[in-house]
Formats: sequence, C-alpha cells, structure tokens
Amino acid sequence: MQGKMIYCNKCGRPICIEEYIEKADYLKIEKNWGYFSNKDGTCVKINICEECYDEIVQGFQIPPVVEENTELL
Ligand SMILES: [Zn+2]
Repeated sequence: MQGKMIYCNKCGRPICIEEYIEKADYLKIEKNWGYFSNKDGTCVKINICEECYDEIVQGFQIPPVVEENTELL
C-alpha cells in the first residue's frame, strides 16, 4: 500500500510519501485565517521543500531568526 505523495507547492517536486514524513525535512505551514483577514474561515496548507525555502528566505527584507537547537531529540 502506497501513501499519498507530498509535493512542494512552489516547485512541484515530490518531497516524500506521507507515511515516511518523519524522515523528510521540509517547511509545513498550516494557517487558519481568522475574522480579521479577508480569508475568514479558510484553512490553508502549504508544503515547501528545503531548496525553495532557501530561495524564499533569500528574498526576505528581514532575515528569519535562526537559533541553534540545543535540545536535539
Ligand atoms: Zn520546492
């Protein structure tokens, strides 16, 4: 039985099969738009692969805060 494939929303490349999701590293955004937006009541799910993440971040005016993860599980 093969699981659902997760695709990068930006470049369209497959990231991984859903059942092996713990072994893949990518950016996952889940946003429930609320009352103060023009998208009230909608939930958006976005998957972005690591390469596209790097590309997007390079376009930021203010770079994201990057901290060392001290508690590695
Ligand atoms: Zn991508």
